[in-house]
Amino acid sequence: MNLLEHQGKFLLARAGLRVPQGKVVSTVAEAADAAATIGCPVVCKAQVPTGKRGKAGAVQLVSSPEEASDFAERLFGSQVGGFDVVELIVEEAADIDREFYAAVLDDPSSKGPLVLFSTEGGMDIEEVNEKTPELVHRVAVDVRAGLDDEGAAALLAGTDLDEAGKASVGSALVNLYALYRDCDTSLVEVNPLVLTKDGSVVALDAKVTIDPGSVPRQAALLNELPGGPPAEQGTDLEGRGRDLGLQFIELDGDVGVLANGAGLTMTSLDVVSHFGGSAANFLEIGGDAYTKATPALELVLSNPRVKSLLVNFCGAFARTDVMTEGVVNAIEELKPTLPIAFTIHGTGEDEAIALVRERLGVEPYDLMDDAVRAAVQAASEAMTEPTS
Ligand code: GDP
Ligand code: MN
Repeated sequence: MNLLEHQGKFLLARAGLRVPQGKVVSTVAEAADAAATIGCPVVCKAQVPTGKRGKAGAVQLVSSPEEASDFAERLFGSQVGGFDVVELIVEEAADIDREFYAAVLDDPSSKGPLVLFSTEGGMDIEEVNEKTPELVHRVAVDVRAGLDDEGAAALLAGTDLDEAGKASVGSALVNLYALYRDCDTSLVEVNPLVLTKDGSVVALDAKVTIDPGSVPRQAALLNELPGGPPAEQGTDLEGRGRDLGLQFIELDGDVGVLANGAGLTMTSLDVVSHFGGSAANFLEIGGDAYTKATPALELVLSNPRVKSLLVNFCGAFARTDVMTEGVVNAIEELKPTLPIAFTIHGTGEDEAIALVRERLGVEPYDLMDDAVRAAVQAASEAMTEPTS
């Protein structure tokens, strides 16, 4: 769950970082008022849960309330990064000396938090990482020890900051780490974290992502956020999936995928691309397959791009015949007309295969590769068929 910038800054401020004074506004008149109250120059920014707003023209330094209202006039009702702009923040402009990049995130390779810092902030950090990786300093943190002043100092040792700079940036990093830990975030990113001309370290932007699995546990925190918990993001179908308690992500391909377990589902998506196809969704059903197969299949078929279906089950503790029975029931109920390729392995596979064969009259594939190839080919043939 991605927080809006102003919500992220609320958490940063609470964790002891400095953020600019600002106001959230939702009308043109409020934008002009806020600019007058705060005192120009101010920075106006669209509040949408996405980055690269600067490049999209959604961040502007303005020098009068009239300019703030012109900017607001232009932004309200428009879209930035696919999101409607309904709020802006108007905040005091910082007198920037240097712009840095700082982040704490879940690192798959060290299986723990990773703290990143670069003196090359403000711009595209991916580009910095690609062209000059030596300028991105990183440290994997042992969660039992956390990040203290010494850890932060070690991270900053290779930078060109002076002693005062290292101390104040170091303490910002320690606070950032504490926020990451206390709020169950998977990412806290400040780009830019700036050093102002008078020597203070200020967070000018905030990207905070709460780990989706922790959303129920962090309910109190989310309710405390200015503006309340962020609206659920995603497509209408994804919203329906959430309401059903299913992890459903809509993708832009045409092969519908039903698989059990996140790992096998990801693998199925990869194998679909390997054979030149493109998956229409991520949907993990697994243990829920028996009870949730019908709504799950309905969800997959509601995507108008879906031209074929791949059902890939693999069971160890989970019985594939139970999952398969759920899906066979769903298919009998919904009667989809598109081609379906099954591949089933593991506990209960003989019973599962017999079920598919007898009740649907379909022969499951012995090899996953063959099933995926068939589903990809069926989708591509459907694409080339003339539509009436
Ligand atoms: P993003 O493009 O969505 O990441 O939006 P940011 O909030 O990071 O703003 C983009 C850029 O605008 C920053 O990298 C800064 O260079 C600039 N900017 C943001 N706030 C201020 C400010 O208070 N003063 C000045 N001079 N520039 C700012
Ligand atoms: Mn930014």
